[in-house]
Amino acid sequence: MSKLLKKLKHALKQKKKISKSESVGVEERVVDISEEVLDDGYLDVQEDKTVVIFAVGGTIATRTNEEGYLVPAMSGEELCKEVPEILDFCNVEVVNFSCVQSTAVTPEMMLELSKQIQKTLQRPEVSGVVVTHGTDTLEETAYFLSISLSDEFQNQNSKPIVLTGSMRGGDAVGFDGLSNLLSSVKVACHDVEDNTPQVVVCFNDEIHAASRVQKTHTSKTSAFTSPGWGPVGYVDEDSVYFRAGALNQDTGFNFPTPDKLTANVEIVKAVTGDKGQYIDYLISQDIQGIVIEGFGRGNLPPEMMPAVERALNAGKEVVIATRVASGRVLDSDGSPGSVKDVIQAGAILGGESTSAKIRLLLMYLLSQPKALELRKEDPELFRAYLQECFDPVLSERLFSVK
Ligand code: ASP
Repeated sequence: MSKLLKKLKHALKQKKKISKSESVGVEERVVDISEEVLDDGYLDVQEDKTVVIFAVGGTIATRTNEEGYLVPAMSGEELCKEVPEILDFCNVEVVNFSCVQSTAVTPEMMLELSKQIQKTLQRPEVSGVVVTHGTDTLEETAYFLSISLSDEFQNQNSKPIVLTGSMRGGDAVGFDGLSNLLSSVKVACHDVEDNTPQVVVCFNDEIHAASRVQKTHTSKTSAFTSPGWGPVGYVDEDSVYFRAGALNQDTGFNFPTPDKLTANVEIVKAVTGDKGQYIDYLISQDIQGIVIEGFGRGNLPPEMMPAVERALNAGKEVVIATRVASGRVLDSDGSPGSVKDVIQAGAILGGESTSAKIRLLLMYLLSQPKALELRKEDPELFRAYLQECFDPVLSERLFSVK
């Protein structure tokens, strides 16, 4: 702990209890953990800040069962009790949102989580939120939270939303969930600065933008990276540093958050010799959008093109992603099946996001009632809107309506 912080702590030392808060959660339980954590039942808080921890599940909540497998078993309070140091930084409340492996987290759960977090952050005493989550789909939930913050919310809100988890189980030697939780709480106490993202993933003391972060290793505690970008900041002892000029907010969309996710979107991975049979199958299904992972810059095998055209003619939205780990999808190639061809046919380019994130964004956009109205009234303007949401750098070049 830094000398300055020690001095501050001393100066600010106050006898203060964690308060029970108003109810916000599904299956929620907000508890007073102070008495169990600290001998005298009082907190020594640095400032009058409250961080709300939404426990979703994942390895960070697991224990090994009798058969030797990891299963989510720990509540948010149980986890917090193992890291009493978090109370050096803030008051803590826990919302037990769910207790599942992240493979069971759905886009609908992400929307519900987003609503609850936005409501929570409106409380003046809450300085930020930490979400503990399984690592397998953590990047998708982080991304969904970033795209579903209403414009009004993100313009006025400097409160961070920090996602974290662990790679080792709760009873393993070197359980990384404790240090990840502590570092995430530190980030959640830190105001979002201009030019830094509001939704971040904090893992292994690195801070990553929700739009760029990916799980890039199946077992290492340094599993999260942002290919092609790097972290936007880091935690060093008690301090949080953001890199100057970090990525901007991910959102900025004009339409309000939808009440429900009504759209279905599927992902198709292009393979050599692909004739688009899977796309043809999807055309007959109740889906509104298809994300296609092309090769390199997003180019498709020539024989796949007719199926893409059929999908567009059938009213499905098509967004192009890439199978490559990082880099932007772009129309730089002129051969048959190239990105140039798919743009001409009416597809949208997905920018630098992974196909899983593009799918979530397309589901989200196609569930916005106002966007659907626009789609009916002015399809070209709607496409410009979509392109703007996926890759504003390209929308200006591709659409004169902007
Ligand atoms: N299976 C776990 C999950 O819920 C993996 C983890 O949390 O690391 O994603």
